[in-house]
Amino acid sequence: MSIPQERRVVTAIPGPKSRELLARKQAAVPPGIGTALPVFVTRAGGGVLQDADGNSLIDFGSGIAVTSVGNAAPKVVERVRRQVADFTHTCFMVTPYESYVRVCEKLNELTPGDHDKRTVLVSTGAEAVENAVKIARHATGRPAVVVFDHGYHGRTLLTMTLTAKNMPYKEKFGPFAPEVYRVPLAYPFRWPSGPENCAEEAAEQAIDMITKQVGADNVAAVVIEPIAGEGGFVVPARGFLPRVAEFCRTNGIVFVADEVQTGFARTGTMFACEDEGIVPDIITTAKGIAGGLPLAGVTGRAEIMDKVHAGGLGGTYGGNPLACEAALGVMETIEEEDLVARARHIGDTMLPRLRALQERFDVIGDVRGRGAMIAIELVEPGTKVPNPAAVQEIVRRCHAEGLLVLTAGTYGNVLRFLPPLVIPDHLLDEGLGILEKAIAEL
Ligand SMILES: *Cc1c(COP(=O)(O)O)cnc(C)c1O
Repeated sequence: MSIPQERRVVTAIPGPKSRELLARKQAAVPPGIGTALPVFVTRAGGGVLQDADGNSLIDFGSGIAVTSVGNAAPKVVERVRRQVADFTHTCFMVTPYESYVRVCEKLNELTPGDHDKRTVLVSTGAEAVENAVKIARHATGRPAVVVFDHGYHGRTLLTMTLTAKNMPYKEKFGPFAPEVYRVPLAYPFRWPSGPENCAEEAAEQAIDMITKQVGADNVAAVVIEPIAGEGGFVVPARGFLPRVAEFCRTNGIVFVADEVQTGFARTGTMFACEDEGIVPDIITTAKGIAGGLPLAGVTGRAEIMDKVHAGGLGGTYGGNPLACEAALGVMETIEEEDLVARARHIGDTMLPRLRALQERFDVIGDVRGRGAMIAIELVEPGTKVPNPAAVQEIVRRCHAEGLLVLTAGTYGNVLRFLPPLVIPDHLLDEGLGILEKAIAEL
């Protein structure tokens, strides 16, 4: 790795150069585009981000679960460099190229289930989810889409409608798309009757709402994240996802797993669905799939995907050749460096330390997640009342020390950790130390 894998804080965070750039940002970019930490990045790789002031920060965010193989990963850079010199775009719908087909073959092979599959490539996660809904509607001839509490699916009109949380995603952006219905998610920490009954009761309630309020025969698709991402890394109680998938199967509903955040080795399996042996009818991928180049996929059963007429799907940039080469580089890296095992190792390192911290500090209500997708939920000590102020304070302290952490959660009270899977152990350890200190000093 060409960037020294070390934390180095040489100015205030953000430093003077970043603050100058931030002033320019504020004059040129509307405030609707938020910034988690306004240090302006000049280089990044492995487990660090370097900024304009010469600081080197430990990265526990991966650009929101995107740079799982590390920033500017060698295999990605090499392939993209070759491709950019050969050709940059033809539009796959005009004149095709092999890398697009190769990425689709690989996605068909890597996603759960050994049935016949097809893949469509698009550019963003939201676009993938939108296309999954279009395809499910077309294949079933039904209008309704069922989504869950705490779900996040994107910022376009349809996907923000599918998203649960109003602020900041939906506030004053309505009216929303029709035929979207929301049902409960099995959120163990917040389930009223306790985590033991959560899976069964939540599945019963969800299925009851679908059958009574919508009618199973009217539902084209159920869209769910196997672990809710922006909603706070909520791992549904075991048994919930299989019950919902089974309900879909018996009622001819397309089960769509939105693995945009959970997919591609992040959770210690190639896809989070595998943990409970779920085989989705359609699976959406993006984020970690192409190391930062814009690429997303919709992979599904051939008999569903093949229903749509020629020309019904696509987009100018979908499966851009640079992004496809990047994705192939990502897949090679995951395989050769066994990053699935590496994600498990990160979880095995983080979870015990965070659980030990939970024993010491009752501001930590819950520690959860799988692999390199880990979160802590902060509460008013001794209660379950969300404590977003504590999250803000911990984030502030971590950032000042040169550790980038992100927040999440319907109540804004979750700290989430998404380190690059290639982060060296000593940086993971150092980052956890900074976090422990920030919580202890709170
Ligand atoms: C990020 C995300 C999306 C949206 O992806 P974009 O590329 O930002 O459009 C959709 N679903 C999930 C689960 C996500 O985490």
